[in-house]
Amino acid sequence: MRVFIPRTVWLAMLVVLLPGSLAGAPGAELPNLDWPRYQDETVRLLQQYIRIDTSNPPGNEMAAAEFWHRQFDEAGIPNTIYPYAPGRANLYAVIKGDGTRRPIVLLNHLDVVRAQPENWKAPPFAGEILDGYLYGRGALDMKDQGVLEAMVMLIVQRAHIRLKRDLIFLATADEEVGDSGSAWIIQNHPELVRGAKYLITEGGSNLIYPGKGTVYGVGVAEKVPFWIRLKATARGGHGSIPIPDSAPNQLVRALYHVVNWQTPIHLLPAVEEYFHAVAPLEGEPLAAQLRNIRQALAHPDFVRQLSRNPDFNYQLRDTVSLTMLKGSEQTNVIPDTAWAQIDVRLLPGESPQEFLARLRAVVGNDKIKIEPLSEFRQPNSSPTNTLLYRIIEQVVHEYNPRAIVAPVLNAGYTESQMYRPLGIICYGFVPIELTPEVDATEHAANERVPVDQLRRAVKMFYEIVVRTGNQ
Ligand SMILES: [Zn+2]
Repeated sequence: MRVFIPRTVWLAMLVVLLPGSLAGAPGAELPNLDWPRYQDETVRLLQQYIRIDTSNPPGNEMAAAEFWHRQFDEAGIPNTIYPYAPGRANLYAVIKGDGTRRPIVLLNHLDVVRAQPENWKAPPFAGEILDGYLYGRGALDMKDQGVLEAMVMLIVQRAHIRLKRDLIFLATADEEVGDSGSAWIIQNHPELVRGAKYLITEGGSNLIYPGKGTVYGVGVAEKVPFWIRLKATARGGHGSIPIPDSAPNQLVRALYHVVNWQTPIHLLPAVEEYFHAVAPLEGEPLAAQLRNIRQALAHPDFVRQLSRNPDFNYQLRDTVSLTMLKGSEQTNVIPDTAWAQIDVRLLPGESPQEFLARLRAVVGNDKIKIEPLSEFRQPNSSPTNTLLYRIIEQVVHEYNPRAIVAPVLNAGYTESQMYRPLGIICYGFVPIELTPEVDATEHAANERVPVDQLRRAVKMFYEIVVRTGNQ
C-alpha cells in the first residue's frame, strides 16, 4: 500500500527553494559497528529475497518464511515457522530484552502483488541493480522493509546489543489479498504479540524533491472500507410503456442524493497535526489557514475550497464513491430490480451504524434496501505523543535536518488496523526517501528502491529501533 501526499503540497514543494544538501550527518549514538559490511549485506539480502517469487495469488510464502528461518538460525535467533495452509506460512522471531519495558514488533508481509514482466526494464524477480536502483516486485512493498527489519534483528544479535524491550520480527502471508496470515496469528497465537507496546510496519512514505523539500509521513491511521449495496425492487415491464416508479428510476433518484451528499467534516487530531506540519510548504494565505485549520474550517468557503482537492478531502470526512451499477440486460426491458454499490471509506472513530442511518436519511426512500457487503472492522488510530514517534522525529532530523515529519492518515487499509485492538501503538514507517516518480512504481511496473537510500535506511532504522528498545 502507499501514502498519498496531497498534490497541492507537491506543487508547493516545487517552488519552495531550500539551499544546501539535505543529507545530514548520521547520529552520534551508533556503537562501533562495521556499517559498510551491514549495508552490503542489506542490499544482498534484498536481492535474494526478491528472487523468491511470492506473487499473491497464490503467495507461496513458505519459501520466504524458510529464507528468514535460515538467516535467523544461522545467527542464533530463536524463530518459528507457522504454516497454516498449503504453501502458506508466517514466521516469528524474537530477541529477548531484559523485560523492564514492553516489546516492539517489526511487522512485514512476505507476499507481493503480481507483475507483468514484459513491461519491466529488469525482470521483476531477478533482484538486478540498474543505474543505482534495485529492481523487483516487493522492492518498495514491502520486501525492502522486511529486510531492514530483519537486519536490525541480525545486528542486535551479532553485536550482543542489550535491550530493555523484546524485539519481535513477524513476517506474515497474504497481506495483499485477504490478510489471512495476520488473521491466523491474531486468532491462534495472540500471545506472540500480546503485551507489545509498539509495532512498525508499512504505511509510511517519504517524498523527496531534490533541492526543495522532503516530507516524512508516519502512518498513524487509515480510512476503513465499508462497502454497501443499494437495491431497488419494483414491477418490471416493457420499455415502450414507462413505469414512473420502476426499480431503475427509484435507484437513480436515490443515487442522485447520495453522490451529491457532502458528509460532515470531522477533523481528527492527527489530520490537524498533518496540515500544521505541511503548512510551511504552501504559500499564503493557504499556509496560515492550514496552520490554524480548525478555525479555517469554520468558514464554509474554505471548506468548499479544501474539499475540491481530493487528497485533502478524503482526510476530512467519510467518503462515498459510486462504483457499480446494474439494471436490465436489455434496452427494451424494464427490470424488476436495479442495484448499485458504493465504496464508502470511514474515518477512524466513526460508527458504521450511524453512517448507515445517515445514508438512509439521505436516500429518503424506505423501499430501497441498503445492505453492507462485508463484515465491518471498526477503524482505529494511534496517537503521536509517544516515545517511538519522538525518536522517529529525532533520528530523521539527525539525517535530514530540513525534513518535515508529519502524521499521515492513509486512504488505503493496512494491517495496523488488525493489531491496534490488541493495545499496540502501530505506525507505518520506513526511512527511505523517494521521488514521487519512484514512489509510484509500487504495485506497478519497474518497482525499485534507490540503493543509496536502502544503505542509509538500515542505519536509521537500527537507530530508531535500538533507541526505542532501550527506553
Ligand atoms: Zn504492502
